[in-house]
Amino acid sequence: MFRSKGNTTEFPPPSRLILGESNGHFIEPSKQNHKSKNEFLQQKPTESGNVNPSKKLKKKPLKKYKGCTSTESETIANDIKTAKKWLKNAIKKLEKYDGKKPTIVFDALEAHFGGSTSWLTGKIIKHKLKTLLGTHKVAGYQCLKKTNKACKKGDPAMAYWCIPFTDIRLCPSFFTSRYDNLRPKILIHEWSHKYHCTGDVAYRDKNGDKYRKLNLLQQLLNADSYAQFVKDVQ
Ligand SMILES: [Zn+2]
Repeated sequence: MFRSKGNTTEFPPPSRLILGESNGHFIEPSKQNHKSKNEFLQQKPTESGNVNPSKKLKKKPLKKYKGCTSTESETIANDIKTAKKWLKNAIKKLEKYDGKKPTIVFDALEAHFGGSTSWLTGKIIKHKLKTLLGTHKVAGYQCLKKTNKACKKGDPAMAYWCIPFTDIRLCPSFFTSRYDNLRPKILIHEWSHKYHCTGDVAYRDKNGDKYRKLNLLQQLLNADSYAQFVKDVQ
C-alpha cells in the first residue's frame, strides 16, 4: 500500500531489520533506502529479477576468422563442428577396440598405420586423437587471397608445423565444392601438423604407393594418416 505525503508518494519503509551480509548479524537499513514512487518505477530490473526480453532474443555473433567473408567463416565453423564429431566418433570406437573388433577400426589401422592392428596401436591413436580434440580449440584461421604465393601451389590449406600462435591458412580453393565432403578431413590434417608436430611424409590420395609402404613409425609422424583414419572410422 502507498502512503501519500504532499506531492510525493512513498512506499512503506522496508521492514526495520534485515539479515546482514556474511557475519549473520542483523543490520538496520539506512533511511536513504526509501524510494519515491518515481524512483521506484525507474529502477532497472535486477539480474535475478525480470530480464529484458530483447536480451533473450539477442543471437550470439558469428565468429569471424581473419580475412574471411561471413560465408567463409560460417563454412569454417561448420567444418570444425563436423571434424569434432568425426574425432569423437573415432575415439569412441577406439575405446571399444580389442585388437580385432570393431572391424572398421581394425581395417583403418591396417590401412593407415603401417599394418599395425594391435590393441596398443589402437590406444596410441586414441590418445593422439584426444589431443586434437582438446587442442584444436585454440587454433586460429586465416583466409588467403587467390594471388597469395602459398595458394598458387594448389594446396587448399596449410599450417606451420608445430609452431604455436600461427594461424591455419586457407586458400580460396578450400571453399570450393570439390572439397565439400573433405574439409573436415583437411582440418584434422592441419590440426595434426600443428598439435602432433607431424609432417607430410606421404599423402594417401597424391602418393598412394608411397603411403601404403610406410611403416608404423612413419605413419605416426604423418599428418595425413590421422586424417584418413578418422575419415574412415567416423
Ligand atoms: Zn600437410
